[in-house]
Amino acid sequence: MHQHERSGLDRPEADLADDIADCDDDFAELDALINPKPVPDADDPEEGFDELEELLGEAMKERKLGESVKSARAKARSGYQLAPDDLERIRKWELAREWQAATNVALFHRYACACGNHQTVFEGLLLEQRSRTNATSIRWTAQATPTAGLPKKTAIRKSTVPMCQRCTAQAGYSLNTDLEWSA
Ligand SMILES: [Zn+2]
Repeated sequence: MHQHERSGLDRPEADLADDIADCDDDFAELDALINPKPVPDADDPEEGFDELEELLGEAMKERKLGESVKSARAKARSGYQLAPDDLERIRKWELAREWQAATNVALFHRYACACGNHQTVFEGLLLEQRSRTNATSIRWTAQATPTAGLPKKTAIRKSTVPMCQRCTAQAGYSLNTDLEWSA
C-alpha cells in the first residue's frame, strides 16, 4: 500500500486519485478471493500459449483459418447453408492464397520488320504467379517494382510490322517530326 505523508484538505487531486486507485486494488483483491478465476481449459487451444507459440502465432492463425475454411467447405458440401458473410470470407481467403509469387519478369515488345530489322521496347514489370492447387496454372500481373527475393527473367511479346524507321526513311519519309501526339 502507498503511504501518504500529507493529510487533510490540502492534498492535491493526484494523491486523491492514488487513494481511489488503491481502493480499487483492494476491491480487486477481495473480488479475486471471493470469485477465483477459472483454471485455463487445457483442451482449449486459445489458452496456455507459451512464448514459442506466441512467435508462431501468425502461422498458427493462418493454419487455423485454413482448417476453418476446409471444415466450412465440407459443411457446404453436405448441404449446410453458409451465411453470405462466411462465404465471402472463404472466397477472399482462397483468392489470397491461390497464387504464389514465383518470378519477376521484365516484359519487352519486339517489332520485327519485313526487312529483317527489329526494334525492342520495354513494356513493364510483371509478377509471375503459380497456382497452389494446380501446378500447370501460371498467371502474370503488372507490378510497379520488382518483388524482393525472387529470381528475374525476361519475356518478349512479338509483332511483325510492314515498315520500320529504316524502311520509311528509304521510302522518303523524313524522321524529322511533323506531328506529335502524347499517349
Ligand atoms: Zn524495315
